Amino acid sequence: MSQVMGWTVGIAVALAGGASMWWLTARDSGPEPQTPTMPTMDAPDKFADDKTPEIKFDGAQSLKYLKQLCDIGPRVSGTDGMKKQQEVIEAHFKKLGATVTRQEFKERQRSRKNETEFANLIVSWHPNKERRIILCAHYDTRPIADQEANKANWNKPFVSANDGAGGVAMLMELGNHMKDLKCEFGIDFVLFDGEEFVFETDRIGGGDRYFIGSDHFAADYLKTKDKRKHKYEAGVLFDLCHGKGASLPVELFSWEAAKPLVEQIWGVAKTVGAKSFKFEKGYQVQDDHLALNRAGIPTVDIIDFDYPHWHKLTDTVDKVDPGQMAEVAKVITTWLQKIK
Ligand SMILES: [Zn+2]
Repeated sequence: MSQVMGWTVGIAVALAGGASMWWLTARDSGPEPQTPTMPTMDAPDKFADDKTPEIKFDGAQSLKYLKQLCDIGPRVSGTDGMKKQQEVIEAHFKKLGATVTRQEFKERQRSRKNETEFANLIVSWHPNKERRIILCAHYDTRPIADQEANKANWNKPFVSANDGAGGVAMLMELGNHMKDLKCEFGIDFVLFDGEEFVFETDRIGGGDRYFIGSDHFAADYLKTKDKRKHKYEAGVLFDLCHGKGASLPVELFSWEAAKPLVEQIWGVAKTVGAKSFKFEKGYQVQDDHLALNRAGIPTVDIIDFDYPHWHKLTDTVDKVDPGQMAEVAKVITTWLQKIK
């Protein structure tokens, strides 16, 4: 991603710097948050020395998958690059025994004359389990690299390595280990299309919409409420979290909507020594997790919004750290094996 509202950044920055945790409990206005069922977990210090097998996630292999995706070039929604990417990802997960569903739909972006074909990819493990967890990332690339100072560079090929694709590549490698993962829940990897199918941010009648894929997914989830058996009890979104020297403070919408999950995940991170996770206040970032939270799926965004190559042509594979991919994967696989 990701879009941050101007005023939101202002507030986040104004409050930054305090070492105390007062902000973690302060909540003075707004509607009372709903309290959906969330997984529970024993306190992390209770399992520091237990015997849960460690998942042998391979950061180098994950980076190879990332290179494979970025070598396709831009993967903008509705383009040949996206189609090629869909084939690569689908083949990968089907070979590993997952059930892969394309959630296809058409929509017209505000600045486009015609509709665009979008597809979220849903990769299901143990599809018959009714209690489920979502691990998600967006897999489209932004059509313009509009953080480039020189506008002449905006339309040059933008591969978006850490932005979206890093999460996808981490999930591709995680797919190799799903048979070893001991988790009480069924797990769906959900890859969102149209997260940033954005050509114009300021135009008369409103800028282009973000989060087209996650909005569609969330609306469909609500619409099928009475028909479907499965229920998502938690979601984790991975965005911009695999760069070299990544810093992962708590994203504030996640804190507001899914505090117990934040405490679990950052608690696990502390226990396993994942130093990039910082239990301190981060930004408030608009991202795909908002649609899921609105649909009653408590979802946390793991994001480094200070990534210096965000929406620049320099967001390339060499900026991504295989060790960081392994670190995030270790936290999540440990967490998945602890929740109940
Ligand atoms: Zn982005």
